[in-house]
Amino acid sequence: MDGMSISSAAPVSVPMPQVPRRRRSPEEVAAVAPVAGPKRVLLAAPRGYCAGVDRAVIAVEKALEHYGAPVYVRKQIVHNVHVVSTLEERGAIFVEETDEVPEGALVVFSAHGVSPAVVQSAEDRNLRTIDATCPLVTKVHREAVRFAKAKNHILLIGHADHEEVEGTYGEAPESITIVNNPAEARTVEVEDPEHLIWLSQTTLSVDETLEMVDILRERFPKLQDPPSDDICYATSNRQTAIKKIAPEAELVIVVGSSNSSNSVRLVEVALEYGAKYAHRVDFAHEIDETWFEGISSVGVSSGASVPEVLVYEVLELLADYGFGPVEEIVTAQEDIIFSLPKELRAKLKEAGDTSTGLGGHGTAN
Ligand code: SF4
Repeated sequence: MDGMSISSAAPVSVPMPQVPRRRRSPEEVAAVAPVAGPKRVLLAAPRGYCAGVDRAVIAVEKALEHYGAPVYVRKQIVHNVHVVSTLEERGAIFVEETDEVPEGALVVFSAHGVSPAVVQSAEDRNLRTIDATCPLVTKVHREAVRFAKAKNHILLIGHADHEEVEGTYGEAPESITIVNNPAEARTVEVEDPEHLIWLSQTTLSVDETLEMVDILRERFPKLQDPPSDDICYATSNRQTAIKKIAPEAELVIVVGSSNSSNSVRLVEVALEYGAKYAHRVDFAHEIDETWFEGISSVGVSSGASVPEVLVYEVLELLADYGFGPVEEIVTAQEDIIFSLPKELRAKLKEAGDTSTGLGGHGTAN
C-alpha cells in the first residue's frame, strides 16, 4: 500500500483471506471526479476484533486442532462471513440448532451465548460442548438470573431476533420483557413497576440505549439501573472512536457483516455524528467507486468481529484512488484478555499445548 502508514497492526488469528477484489484500471480511477487538495483517510482505533470474538474464534481453531474435524458450531461463532467461511474451510460445520448435530459429537456454542434450554438439549443428545459465550454476555445472563430470583421484573433492551437476546431472555422468560426500540419503551406495560430493573444487549448504540432508559424512567420512576453497564467496552470504544472521526469524514466505511449488531450501529453513529455518507461492507470489493466522487476525506472502522486483514483491503483500495496517508485516530487503548473456555483449557493442558493466544487484542495496544 504505497504511501500508507499505520501506527498499529495487530495480528489476527485467521489467515490472509482469498478476497476476490478486482483492482481498478487507471481509467476507472481517473473516472472518479478529481478532488482538489489532499485526500485524507481517518482510521478509527479501537476497531476490529474484541477479546470475546478473538477467544471464540481461537476456541474453534483449537477445537479443530485438538479434536479434529468436524467440529460443529451452533450458529455463526461470530457474526462475520469471512471468519465463518475460513473456519468452514478448516472443518467447522455451522448449524442452527443442536438437533442438527450427530449424537455424541462436539459442538461449540457461539460468542453470543445460549439459553439454558439449548444447554439442556445438547445434554439430552449427549453432545460434548465447548461454551465460547463471551464472558461479558455471561455476565448479563447472571444478572438476569439474579434479578429474576429477587422477584424483579427485567426490561431487556435489545433486539428480540438477535441470538444474544434470545439467550439472555431464555434465562428467565417469565421475568423478562424485551424492549426493542424507543417506541416500545413508550408503550411497554409491566405488572409491578415498583420492582423493575433494566438490562441490555451488549452491542447496542450507547446513545440510543440511554435515550430508551430515560423514556422508561420517566414512565417507571422506580426503574433500577444494572450494577454496571451491559453495553460492553468494545462496543462502546468503537462508537467513541467513530464519533471522533465522523465530523471530519465526508464518507465513512465500516467493515462488518449485515448481521453484526455492533457494525450496523457504527454506520448509524457515524451518520448521527456528522459523516455525510456511511456504508457497511463485508469486503473491499463491495465498495462502489462512485462513493468517492467529490470526497476528500474517508473514515474507516470495523466491527468487533472483523479481522484486521479485511480493513487492510479497504485501505489498499483507498490508496488505489489516491487516498492517504492513513491517519489513525486513537481514542482508547484495549488490553483485555479472556482465557479460553474451561473445557478447552483442560484439553490443551492434557495435550501439553501451552499456546498463549488466548484472545483479546485491540487494534491500538
Ligand atoms: S462485542 Fe463485547 S460482548 Fe460481544 S464478544 Fe465482543 S467483548 Fe464480548
